[in-house]
Amino acid sequence: MVQDRVALITGASRGIGRSIALALAAQGAKIVAVDVDLQATENFVAELKAAGTEAVAVQGNVTVAADVEQMVKVAKETFDRIDILVNNAGITRDALLIRMKDEDWDAVLDVNLKGAFLCTRAVSRLMTKQRHGRIINIASVVGQMGNAGQANYCASKAGLMGLTRSNARELAKRNITVNAVAPGFIATAMTDALPEEKRQELATQIPLARLGSADDIANTVVFLASDNTGYITGQVIGVNGGMYM
Ligand code: NAP
Repeated sequence: MVQDRVALITGASRGIGRSIALALAAQGAKIVAVDVDLQATENFVAELKAAGTEAVAVQGNVTVAADVEQMVKVAKETFDRIDILVNNAGITRDALLIRMKDEDWDAVLDVNLKGAFLCTRAVSRLMTKQRHGRIINIASVVGQMGNAGQANYCASKAGLMGLTRSNARELAKRNITVNAVAPGFIATAMTDALPEEKRQELATQIPLARLGSADDIANTVVFLASDNTGYITGQVIGVNGGMYM
């Protein structure tokens, strides 16, 4: 139920964003793939096109308002609308609180929270005119639980959940839903960087006893993006193997 819908995904060229783009494309959506690395984004879009998906690549940093305006402009010029926005771009700069540098705090809050705000503000203007939209923010289970060594990241993701609820209330009148997906520990480059014993230790905290996959997140995003789930808004859907209930 996303056939011919236009989906803009940030941080689309790899990891969870890439899986989200592939899953939406597999259901017939047109893809606007945004990422900082132009070459990687263009390569990914070439793959999508080769598989028969209408897609366009945009180089953009979600923390730069001019880049965000450009993303929307390219989407509008190419497909004339944006139905689905997935705020997926995210970074970590982990350190214990007493050693955390101001710039690590600022960088994480800028990308993970301000980036989502800027993209949502720009895209919702268009969605408001369309009287249709699905906005999906990729949060994190640690925004719900906290995590030692991730004060900046957890604060950004908890903030993103607050932004989700506030925007859901504000945009509901325009038939725009806003929800968050809060992944648990997902096997991607972000978690591949952890030592094997740390990953095994993490799995012991998860009732389903495994790390999630990027596809677990992508399938939930497709569900929330669908035409037939329009009565769900302001929710945080945990996709965490039962790690947080
Ligand atoms: P990833 O593999 O590092 O991918 C993140 C993507 O976002 C990269 O392509 C990155 O580009 C891009 N990006 C970073 N800063 C950006 C910016 N300012 N503007 C535009 N794009 C930017 O991460 P992931 O594991 O797929 O995570 C995706 C999302 O899921 C993030 O929001 C993350 O916080 C969340 N999440 C992940 C996990 C997990 O276990 N992996 C768990 C919970 C939540 P470059 O690398 O080229 O800069």
